[in-house]
Amino acid sequence: MKTLRSFLCGRWLEGSGAPQILVNPATEEPLGQVSSEGLDLAAALVYSRDRGGAALRALSFAERGALLREMSKAMQAQRDELLDLAVANGGNTRSDAKFDVDGAIFTLQSYAELGEKLGPAKFLVDGEGVQLGRSPRFHGQHIRVPRHGVAVHINAFNFPAWGLAEKAASALLAGMPVLSKPATSSALVAHRLMEILVEKKILPDGALSLLVGAPRDLPALLGGQDVLAFTGSGDTGTRIRALPNIVRESVRVNVEADSLNAAVLGPDAAPGGDMYETFLKDVLRDMTQKAGQKCTAIRRVLVPEAHATTVRDDIVEGLKSVRVGDPSLEETRMGPVASSAQLADVREGVGKLASEGKAAFGSAAPLGGKGFFISPVFMEFAKAALATSVHAREVFGPVASLLRYSARGADAAAIVARGNGGLVSSVYSEDAEFLEEVVAGIAPYHGRIFLGHPKIEMSPGPGTVLPQLVHGGPGRAGGGEELGGLRGLSLYTQRVALEGSRPVIQKLIGATPG
Ligand code: NAP
Repeated sequence: MKTLRSFLCGRWLEGSGAPQILVNPATEEPLGQVSSEGLDLAAALVYSRDRGGAALRALSFAERGALLREMSKAMQAQRDELLDLAVANGGNTRSDAKFDVDGAIFTLQSYAELGEKLGPAKFLVDGEGVQLGRSPRFHGQHIRVPRHGVAVHINAFNFPAWGLAEKAASALLAGMPVLSKPATSSALVAHRLMEILVEKKILPDGALSLLVGAPRDLPALLGGQDVLAFTGSGDTGTRIRALPNIVRESVRVNVEADSLNAAVLGPDAAPGGDMYETFLKDVLRDMTQKAGQKCTAIRRVLVPEAHATTVRDDIVEGLKSVRVGDPSLEETRMGPVASSAQLADVREGVGKLASEGKAAFGSAAPLGGKGFFISPVFMEFAKAALATSVHAREVFGPVASLLRYSARGADAAAIVARGNGGLVSSVYSEDAEFLEEVVAGIAPYHGRIFLGHPKIEMSPGPGTVLPQLVHGGPGRAGGGEELGGLRGLSLYTQRVALEGSRPVIQKLIGATPG
């Protein structure tokens, strides 16, 4: 069994005290042990701020981008090993594991390219300069500079590789050092990734640190120049945000939390048509990929009354062929959920949904034998307008619910909005009026809207987060925003307005006087 150590203050350090055990969720076999007890977290933060921060700020965007490029190459070189670990420790099928690991590589590459484009600059020029007085000499210009703290990244269990990489890419490119803390249950992938990066000596001293095991009082140690980017449950996010130091010091916090993502089938997308098939494929993929443990997975399936029975029957038919089992076997389509706690949570959630709806497929009943397996569950709600649990409880597993609506765009939008803020919802229609009504109705409640279309080649569906587009959402989803190309650097930079003589400012920002 491997003992996982943290990489803090430029060294591998082992915690003391009773360890937490990491297991294979398919077999319950122990794979690793970890403890963060006794580690000096305050010293680790100081080291990151002082060493890592200074080193990164001395580099240009192009140089920081080159570091990200090297990180992606190092991951690519050891991709197979990382995939094997994701299968063993995350319950991922090989395809699920690729989704995580390749997503991490792609995101690092994407931010490496941004760095190359930004070239020799060390800070961002934000918009055009403005004339402030009668004479053009009195000038204003906004810039964005890296904050002088440390970016603490706390991640959820479902994407150990992507979670570390997507957050680190934006922060490192912005010029901020990172201390990353993966969720404990699936930490083997992030831990190995860190070992690879340290072995290859890619990053400057202090630029990237890793804390494995319990977070202890890490968020309580942050100050006004630090950033905390958290991904996980809404409850933990709320607790962190309310910490006295976070409030008192105005610590910048980004929360990516729960989401009841919806897929809306338009009345024009009749069963049998290409649009309908695209919709069906996306729903079935989202229900079973990573055993439904994706923050972006479709949870609510909105269907016009007239097509509801056909949709239900087609989804049930699709789910019948999903082979649940050992994720290391090629024929397996869906592995277990990540932990016993997660399994208990999913069962409890299905029970809540069942108090108002009924199962069209599957159940929360134990599957027997070792491992944290559960069948996909498709629930049906006769009266979407009256149901409450389906709009309030994210069941983080292979679970989705069918909701009927009248065929009017405004009705569908009103039902979607009851989720009170989400990461992404999708609409499948070519009817311009319907699309306009739904998009206008749901846009304020989301970070992203996916407009499904059969002609988009190799469409990844709504569940894939792309580095070029923002990820996050209002309300229940935490109110955060990550990625989105250069927008992702906003969290890690301070916008400051320069006000003064135009030639002086232009010299400072390296612009050609004009
Ligand atoms: P969680 O219990 O909130 O844990 C998330 C992370 O927070 C873990 O690293 C955990 O560490 C850490 N943590 C727990 N308590 C903490 C505290 N008091 N202070 C600081 N850190 C703390 O969530 P989860 O059950 O692992 O994740 C599932 C949830 O994440 C789902 O609700 C899902 O929607 C959400 N999620 C959201 C997104 C998104 O992008 N919006 C992506 C993925 C998942 P330990 O593991 O050591 O306890």
